[in-house]
Amino acid sequence: MTDSKDRIVSCPTCKKETRYHANNPSRPFCSERCRLIDLGEWAEEGHRIPGKRVPTEFDDPEIDTH
Ligand SMILES: [Zn+2]
Repeated sequence: MTDSKDRIVSCPTCKKETRYHANNPSRPFCSERCRLIDLGEWAEEGHRIPGKRVPTEFDDPEIDTH
């Protein structure tokens, strides 16, 4: 028997496996920190351009950056 209320999901921010559970206030993220990153409220690095960062599965080395 598997408890479907306590399943493992991948954190959308760092991809770490975490429990999706009512006791985890940061779900589906692994932590409050990752939740804030996803919300764009990650202010520790003040030099970052504000706005929602789009996660990429892979980086294209040929990308044209002007
Ligand atoms: Zn995370």
